[in-house]
Amino acid sequence: MDQIECVVAGAGVVGLAVARALALAGREVIVLEAAPTIGTGISSRNSEVIHAGIYYARDSLKARLCVQGKRMLYDYCAARGINHRRCGKLLVATTPEQVPQLQGIMERAALNGVEDLRCLTAAQAHAMESELVCEAALYSPSTGIVDSHALMLGLQGDIEKSGGMVVFNSAVQYVECSSSALFVVTADGTRLQAGMVVNAAGLQAPMLAGRFQGLDSKHVPCAWFAKGSYFTLTGRAPFSHLIYPVPQMAGLGVHLTLDLGGQAKFGPDVQWVDSADDLTVDPARAQAFYAEVRKYWPALEDDALLPGYAGVRPKIHGPNQVACDFLIQGPAVHGVCGLVNLFGIESPGLTSALAIGDYVRRLLL
Ligand SMILES: Cc1cc2nc3c(=O)[nH]c(=O)nc-3n(C[C@H](O)[C@H](O)[C@H](O)COP(=O)(O)OP(=O)(O)OC[C@H]3O[C@@H](n4cnc5c(N)ncnc54)[C@H](O)[C@@H]3O)c2cc1C
Repeated sequence: MDQIECVVAGAGVVGLAVARALALAGREVIVLEAAPTIGTGISSRNSEVIHAGIYYARDSLKARLCVQGKRMLYDYCAARGINHRRCGKLLVATTPEQVPQLQGIMERAALNGVEDLRCLTAAQAHAMESELVCEAALYSPSTGIVDSHALMLGLQGDIEKSGGMVVFNSAVQYVECSSSALFVVTADGTRLQAGMVVNAAGLQAPMLAGRFQGLDSKHVPCAWFAKGSYFTLTGRAPFSHLIYPVPQMAGLGVHLTLDLGGQAKFGPDVQWVDSADDLTVDPARAQAFYAEVRKYWPALEDDALLPGYAGVRPKIHGPNQVACDFLIQGPAVHGVCGLVNLFGIESPGLTSALAIGDYVRRLLL
């Protein structure tokens, strides 16, 4: 039987960032990925926004890892020539009742260490974006966009340069956890002895952890899935900043994001679904998008939106439950030496990936 120091299950942006952090620390690392290539899961079905760290509860992992991850990500992209843009974002109040909420958002952001937000009057916001209609806005200069696939290729390159390996078509079936070692068994029956195992299987993480022998099931949360659909704008958008409404339950509201080629998309909305594989975009949902977007861009023309793509959020709370923080459980929580489970790594997981990598390294080493 082969022996290896660290096994990471899942080659999305988070698994790759964790594996990179362990590999750069001099550990022997192998990433086992069920799919034939990197980043086919949530990591390629998101808004590709580098979040500032504005909304999250003070001292939560989401707040800390987003703010730290944002800095690390901008530095990494600059050092490695990964396409990104610090385009900034406008967070808009579209009714007088929402205006006081902006102040609360600004205060929460400051508690998270995001101190560069600026309050804008409607006229100031209009001067930045001539087609935008709002009552007031917050400007976040440190929000940006990134080419997530180029980022993942960079991380994979770092792992391989440090002697690590990413192995495709190799789903982890289960792990046997004993007091002396961890035994990883893949779908084809291969058995590896590992000193450390990180479960970074995204939407599948709770189901995978549920198959870990020797891990108390009380440490495995229930998996919930919240689909977010996107609609793309035909033609060029008259905006150069990202535009976000005041956040709503379970998501950040139907916002406008731009990709690095200037293409605009709107989304994601929130639709609780039964399956992690439910990735169809229902064209009928466009009606709600027109209504939401016209609150801040009334000039949006009929028939301008086309169904785009969808991503599924790996929730660990249901529709009417309090939103959860990232749930990152190491040996101090579940008692299994060498094991870390990553649950509920929804947004801002892309922004936070490098910081999550460091956090997991510190839990294990
Ligand atoms: C609609 C939407 C919009 C978002 N927008 C943003 C945003 O703008 N900014 C931001 O910061 N974050 C955003 N996020 C969050 C971000 O995309 C995720 O947090 C991040 O991509 C999660 O990465 P991951 O590696 O944990 O998961 P994934 O990318 O899903 O990777 C998990 C991998 O594990 C593999 N796998 C599954 N089971 C097994 C197994 N048994 N064995 C081996 N491999 C397995 C899968 O094939 C997959 O490749 C968004 C998320 C969604 C859903």
